Amino acid sequence: MRIQVIIPAAGLGERFQSDIPKPLTLLKDKPVLIHSLEIFDKSDLIQGMIVAAPEEHQKDFEAAVAKYSFKKPIKVVVGGKNRQESVANALNTLDPNTDYVVVHDAARPLLTVKVLEAAIHACVAYKAVIVAVPVKPTIKRIDPMNSEVNATLDRSVLWEAQTPQIFAYELLTQAHKQGIGLEATDDAFLAERFGAKVKVVQGEYRNIKITTPEDLKIAEALLE
Ligand code: C5P
Repeated sequence: MRIQVIIPAAGLGERFQSDIPKPLTLLKDKPVLIHSLEIFDKSDLIQGMIVAAPEEHQKDFEAAVAKYSFKKPIKVVVGGKNRQESVANALNTLDPNTDYVVVHDAARPLLTVKVLEAAIHACVAYKAVIVAVPVKPTIKRIDPMNSEVNATLDRSVLWEAQTPQIFAYELLTQAHKQGIGLEATDDAFLAERFGAKVKVVQGEYRNIKITTPEDLKIAEALLE
């Protein structure tokens, strides 16, 4: 199986309030992005990684990656104006002989190889797989006009989508082609719209997405 990883890392991280791009921020001893890349470098199922970086920081990302020794080839490409475009740009540079594509947010450095490989194995049967966890809180739907609650959702059927999300190469490229202009916040949404059945593999709560400065502190504590 030829499996490549796409790491969208081109976000401006506005909620992170930092001059340094979030993926290059230090988490303990190394940048968040390097932690994320190391997970894939460790798995024997992965052939290589492509990072989508902000255009103005492409050189900084390349320099950060070059400082560490990885077994697998890593390419840094320029991202797009939203996550979907960043993934699409990276997809366009992939060898069409790829069998499966793993998409993983740079901002989730606490993924484990065990969860990654469980999701990859599920993808052989399902062609589209996401890692997710059951939601813990009660979720309300609100009316954005007046902030009034208009529904309390049934928690027993709600799961929080994380990454990695893994797709057969052909399915993901077609779903992206069909979804141009949608601004999807994850790739599964495009696969769902394309008509694919998306299988959920239970992940871990520790696989948090670093969004705000306090998430970085939580990630540090979880790494202890
Ligand atoms: O902004 P959000 O939290 O949804 O970002 C999720 C991931 O998508 C992050 O890793 C971020 O760097 C990436 N992203 C991207 N290109 C953009 C916006 C976000 O690669 N233009």
